Order: sequence, then C-alpha cells, then structure tokens
Amino acid sequence: MLEELAMPAQKQVERALLRAMLKNGGVIKEFGSGEETVEDLAHEFGLNERQRSAFLETTYRRQNRVKKAFLWHRLLFRAADNLARENMVSRPTQTLQLTQKREWMLTEKGFDESLKLCNIPASKKECLTTKSFEVQTIVKNLIESRKLENYDPFDRDKKMVKTTREAALRNRAFRQAVVEAYNFRCAICGLKIKSPDSLSWEVEAAHIVPHRSSGRDDVCNGIALCHLHHWAFDVGWFTVLDDYKVKASPQIDRLPPDCGQIENFQIFRSLASGRVKMRLPKSDEIYPHHNAIRWHRDNIFNEQCPC
Ligand SMILES: [Zn+2]
Repeated sequence: MLEELAMPAQKQVERALLRAMLKNGGVIKEFGSGEETVEDLAHEFGLNERQRSAFLETTYRRQNRVKKAFLWHRLLFRAADNLARENMVSRPTQTLQLTQKREWMLTEKGFDESLKLCNIPASKKECLTTKSFEVQTIVKNLIESRKLENYDPFDRDKKMVKTTREAALRNRAFRQAVVEAYNFRCAICGLKIKSPDSLSWEVEAAHIVPHRSSGRDDVCNGIALCHLHHWAFDVGWFTVLDDYKVKASPQIDRLPPDCGQIENFQIFRSLASGRVKMRLPKSDEIYPHHNAIRWHRDNIFNEQCPC
C-alpha cells in the first residue's frame, strides 16, 4: 500500500519529526486529525488529498472489530514509535507524567540529533528553550518544590569545577523552569517574544543571588527578565521589595536627560514611581524568596542618594 500511494519512507518521516519537534519547543502532540504539525508535515512532504485521507483498516478477529486509522497518522506514529525505541523521544504515556500532556518529547539524544538535522551547532544548545525529557524531569522537581520559610539561597557546597553534563542539564532546567513559571514574559515590562525561527525566547532567567555569590539554581532564587531588565537588575538599577513592588535606585534622578529612555519613553524613570509591581508566577510557592530579594537589596541594589 505504501508503494501504491507513494507515501514517504519511514526514515524520512523520522527525520522530519525530529526537525519539527525542535521547531515546536521539543514536543509534538499525539497524532490526530487537524493537528497543526500533522498538517505542516503533510504539506512538507507534498501529500495530496488521496494520500492524506487514505485509511488503514486493521481487523481484530478475536474482538471481532475493525479499527480504522488514517494511513498518514499511522506512518507518523510508526516513525515516532521507532524514535522512542532508539531513545530519541519519550512516549506520550511517559511525558504525561511530567507535563500532564500527551506529547512526544525529545530526549537529550534526540535533541542533539535534531540540531544536526537543522545544521545548528551543538554549542547553541544552551541558548535554546527547547524541552528535553531529562531537563523537564529536573524542571518538574524545581517547580514543585515547597516554599521554605528559612530558605537559604546560597549553595554553600558549590564548587567552581568544570561544567559536568549534570550541571549543564541543571542550568538549562533552571532557565526553563523560571521562564515557564513567568509564562515567558519579563516580570517588569511584560515583554514576550520568540526568535523568528521559534527556537528561543527573548526572556532570560535571572538569578537573584547570582552564581558568582553561590546562588542556588532554584525557581525562588530566579526572576524572568528581558535582556534590558536583566542587565538593570544585575547592576542594581532596581530591586524588589517584600511586597514585590519595584524600587528604583535614586541615582535615576542623576541621569542626563538623554539617557535611559527609548524615544520618549522613560524606561528607567518609569520604575521610580513606586507603583510598579513585578509580575509573579501563578503559585506563590515559587515566588522570589524574601531571603533572596533581601540579599539583592543589601548587596546589589544601588541605594546611594545623589545628594
Ligand atoms: Zn523587561
């Protein structure tokens, strides 16, 4: 039947699936009719209406029933199933336990392979917010961590050793968990945008107590910030109070009139009103911890009065 309808070969479909998953944030939904990716892939292979609508009938004699499925969906399933056997993707039943969604998800091995297929250097992996099963397993633990009143934002056992694979996964998981918790938006200005190739988000996961001061990779020691606000937070232009209102450095009043604005928008002075409150995650268990933001206020924030 495959020859008769001239359907694409399974290996070709496997490669197309890996590329599509990379572009789709590392996941792809179970194959059902009407799914965007299923349609996009059919389009990529130039499938005609006959090929898209061909049925495959499977007869289950013992149960006396016939199961009908689209041949194209069956081919996609077989390709994904084989990728799962080769440990390139996780199955929807496995992913369901992690994300509560029935999706196929790239594994680290599948992620590396998809980068190769898209001619993206492996060194760019750290900048992408593509999900992988291994990283999402750590993300789940980070997101589900309970708030501790006496939380210590410092990892006192941390050693500045060469980056191990485990540390690299943990870094990516921290970034993923923080930006997901803030719905990919900057907590200060709300900016949310992806790169045109859909491979990375503009927003970054900022440490409140930074790595160089042995800050932990926990969601409650992080805030999602756009590049500009990340820089401004790290150099002390603003900090966050215990009620999550933004406090700007009084140094803002000393800025020359042509500094700190975009066209006519006073991007820094707008933070000095005392009325700006940072956007917060849905669950207060992962709000920035007071012990971390107090440290930022005392050690990074520039409170020096200009007078
Ligand atoms: Zn921002």
